[in-house]
Amino acid sequence: MITKELIKKVTVNILRRAETTLPSDVKEALVRAYECEENEIAKVQLEAMLENVKLGETMQRPLCQDTGIPLFYVTLGSGNGNVNLNDIESGIREGVKEATEIIPLRPNVVDAITREREGGEANVGDRMPYIDYKIETGIDGLEITAFPKGGGSENVSAFAMLAPKLGAEAEKEIKKFVLEAVLNAAGKPCPPTIIGVGIGGSADMAMRLAKAALLRPVCVRNKNARIARIEEELLEAVNNTGIGPMGLGGKTTALDLHIETAATHITSLPVAINFQCWAARKAAAKIYSSGSVEYL
Ligand code: SF4
Repeated sequence: MITKELIKKVTVNILRRAETTLPSDVKEALVRAYECEENEIAKVQLEAMLENVKLGETMQRPLCQDTGIPLFYVTLGSGNGNVNLNDIESGIREGVKEATEIIPLRPNVVDAITREREGGEANVGDRMPYIDYKIETGIDGLEITAFPKGGGSENVSAFAMLAPKLGAEAEKEIKKFVLEAVLNAAGKPCPPTIIGVGIGGSADMAMRLAKAALLRPVCVRNKNARIARIEEELLEAVNNTGIGPMGLGGKTTALDLHIETAATHITSLPVAINFQCWAARKAAAKIYSSGSVEYL
């Protein structure tokens, strides 16, 4: 049985893991970057990040003082009648409040205009936590991913409706836009970053694709061969900018670059870019309809 209390408990657990333990794909990518860097300052920065990761894990303390805003992805099994949507919403909200108090997390959530904490210091507010829902067939119960997102990397997001072009010309325009965004962002998103690029759909879809692209594990390419090639070419170009770890120079500006695409309007070419900092936090769990939980 999936209850609100169970969802709350799982939310606290995955938030704790996301905040204190870097996923192994990101950690391994940081180690590889450290081993490959020749720039001494870049090596020092990467070493500090790896030390920080070790301390976060052993002391069960957040990896960064900016513990992010509470974003969640929920995948629901289709035809799953025994999950109450109100329980999901309130279970996650209550879980965020408890996690903020006991981990503890910085109270980052404020009203967009007044900058006041309408929800107190509990990291909740109007439409926050934000939950992105997806329905999939063949899933028993639901899957929740906690994706606390830092402000530094979010603040350099970029979006444009480019003029639609064909094939190689479209690729050229997209690459130019991505590289300009990376150069503008420079050290602000706390590189080495993971860069999510959303291409196609509508304006809002493109940004959702860009953000969802950040959840794909490092070194996993898009299944479409053409898109996979563009990912590799762009990643190489990003790392040739010399921005480096924390913007202090070096050859590791991004650990990876992921592109997600959708079909779009014949007159449109929306492109969105969302950055993830080196503290690429995410953690997920499956809650089966029986009530058993598997941490992923
Ligand atoms: S962008 Fe990431 S690493 Fe930088 S301050 Fe924010 S959460 Fe921390």
